[in-house]
Formats: sequence, C-alpha cells, structure tokens
Amino acid sequence: MEESNWDLLIVGGTVLTMEPGSEPLADGAVAVADGRIAAVGLAEDLLELAPTGGVVNAGGCIIMPGLVNTHSHLAMTLLRGLADDLPLMEWLEKHIWPAEKTLMNRETVRLGTELAAAEQLLAGITTTTDMYFFGDEIASVLAAAGMRAVVGESLIDFPTPRCATPEEMLVKQRELAEAFRHHPLITPSIAAHAPYTVCAANLVKEAELAEEFGLPLQIHLSETRGEVERLIEEKGRTPVAYLADLGVLSERTVAAHCVHVSADDIELLAELEVGVAHNPVSNLKLASGVSPVPTMLERGVKLGLGTDGAASNNTLDLLRDMQLAALLHKGVSGDPTVLPARTMVEMATIGGARVLGLDGMIGTLSEGKAADVVCLAVEGPHATPVFDPFSHLVYAARSSDVRHVLVGGRLVVGNRTLNTLDQERIESEASRFAQKVG
Ligand SMILES: [Zn+2]
Repeated sequence: MEESNWDLLIVGGTVLTMEPGSEPLADGAVAVADGRIAAVGLAEDLLELAPTGGVVNAGGCIIMPGLVNTHSHLAMTLLRGLADDLPLMEWLEKHIWPAEKTLMNRETVRLGTELAAAEQLLAGITTTTDMYFFGDEIASVLAAAGMRAVVGESLIDFPTPRCATPEEMLVKQRELAEAFRHHPLITPSIAAHAPYTVCAANLVKEAELAEEFGLPLQIHLSETRGEVERLIEEKGRTPVAYLADLGVLSERTVAAHCVHVSADDIELLAELEVGVAHNPVSNLKLASGVSPVPTMLERGVKLGLGTDGAASNNTLDLLRDMQLAALLHKGVSGDPTVLPARTMVEMATIGGARVLGLDGMIGTLSEGKAADVVCLAVEGPHATPVFDPFSHLVYAARSSDVRHVLVGGRLVVGNRTLNTLDQERIESEASRFAQKVG
C-alpha cells in the first residue's frame, strides 16, 4: 500500500466490504481518491499514511457499500398513499393511470424525483433505478442530487403523460441514451412496461435499442397470476418463455417482480443471465403473490431488491424491505434457514449491482470501485448489543440510523443532513401538491 493523495479517509467503524468470503473489519477505514476507493484497511494503518484530505468520522458505525434499489418509479412518491388496499389492475386502471394522466408533467415529475432522491439518500441508497416518463428530467435531477441511477423512459402501447405514441417514446429513449451514455452517475436504460402492455413488434425494437447502445432493458415480468394466464391464452407460453422466444431476455434485462414463474421459467432466467428485481412490499401490498426467491437463488438467478414506486410500498426504504424479504421467505417456506442475513445484505448491495450490470463499478468496497459508501450508526437501545453486523443490518437497524452517505466520493449526506438537496423546500412543495390534489 503506497501513500497517496487521498481526498478522504472514512475512519472508526466496522467495515463490511461485501467481497466474497470477507470478514467484518473492526476499527477499519476506507480511503477515497478521485471518487474511487483507494484502500481499505485498519484505521491505525491508514491514518499513518497521512492523508492529505479530510477525515469522515464513522466512529461506532457500520461502513458498507451503498444500497442498490433495482426497481422504482421515483416520481410516484407524489402519489404516496393516494390509493391503497386495491388489486393491481383496479389500482392501475382506476387510480394510478388516471392520476398520472392529469397530475404528472415535467414539473411534478421533477418534484417527485427530488423527493425520492432525498428519501433514498437519507436511507443509504446510493444507486437507484427508475422507469417513468420525462427520463431526461429525472436523470438531470438525480445527477444534481449526486445519486447514481439507471434511468429509463417507459414505452407502453398507449399514450403516456409525455408521448402520444410508442414511436415517439422510442425517439425519447434514443435521445436519453445519447444524452447520458457517458455520464459518470447516470446509466440510461431502455424500459418496456410489460409483455401484456407492449406488442411483440415493439418489444423486439426495445431489445434492439438496448443492444445497439449496450444498455440495461427494464421490464415488469410475471407480476400477477392474471398476467401469466392471459399470456398463456394469447401466446401459448408463459411471459418468460414468450420474451425469451422474442429475444428480449438477456444479461441486459432487469426483470421486475417474477412472482409467478415456473421451474422452466427459472431455468430460462438463469441460463439467459436475466437480472431479477425482487419487490417484496409491492408484491404483498397488491397481493400479487410471493416470488420464489430462495429457489431462484439456488438455481443461480441474479437477484436484487427493489422498492417499486411509493404508490405501492409506500416508502423507498431498502433496509426495511430487506428485513421484510428475509422474514417473508422464511415464513412462506417454513424454513428459517433460507435467506440468511448475509445473503440479504448481498442482495441489497452486490446482488443489485449485478442485476443492473454495474458490478464492475459498485456493490462492494473494493479498491478501484466507485466510492459509494454508507456509514450506519450503531447506537441506541434498538441497536445494542451487536453480535453480528449482518444480523444487525437485516433484523434491527433502521434507515434513520444512516449517518453519512458518499456517492462517487462525494459526501451527499453528512451527519444525517442532505448536502445536495433542499429537503425543507422539497417537502413543503410536495405537501402543497397533495393539498391541491386533495
Ligand atoms: Zn414497477
């Protein structure tokens, strides 16, 4: 390890690098230079190398890679709690889609995305994923907030708040890809709504566009039993088999949900290296069902966690969702050994990074990777004592314990305060929006 011009040294906590087989490192430190992780080691060793930059005090914290949210519709934070306790199709067709038609425009999408960025960064989410409308606006807001994100302009076979036709949406997708393809924080993405709302010809165009630019392709897949029954009736195949036959599924695909997947579907997802975004809260709230996550993991499917939009969650809080997923799959399987704590933390960090195709850049605290780091305070009665940091994160920690957050080496949250967004202004504008709607 050579002495270098580190910009920052994060010291004082227990470091979880999340590298395979790594052990928690007590009294550790993480050095940051040029937005990347320059070194991970014992605090006493790294402090001796006399950093020229500042020191971030993470005393009494768990220092870990930032959480990765693999599926969301960020601007829907403005619709948080607008319609609850309804089945998916009624919720979508009678409430969400009409509300989006009348309420969502470039300005409200901007506000909703700011609110989502604030909520996520404060909760330790450093990388998020979005599929919605006005992708260019969303990407600009997230970049300004200092958040890493995969952003897709949604394509669907009927008018959106932005575009009248799928042809127009394809143009917007191409523009987004061209504008952000070399951005340090934003990965543009292609986003097709679902196999039941996008025709075969357009699905193929989406796959071709993703291939042309080398981008992730987001899609909702096998979310409800109704969707699967409909596809089998109309296409003679499950949604997974149908998309595989169309050539839509590949290592680029980020498939949200995969709740109702057969054994053959799971083999296809593993073989084609499709990434699956597991959204346990959304699936429970809409009573869509329970995704066979332990089986998918066993078969080698890439899995990450997603919050989905705040209209079906209703928060963007991956720590909470991690706990819920761990408990849910134990309860449903009758096996308390499935999804142990470390596996859950992996799913929320490096697992999510793999799903998004970003594992070369984020997901572990490894030298050379981006310095996306969370320091979570271990303090208070609910956090005492701690025998195992993984168990603590999954079963006891709260997102309000997050103290510092760095993205690309930039301290976006310091001492629980957002440095990149005006939290007060965003909250008051969002409340005013709700008053007007109400
Ligand atoms: Zn969704």
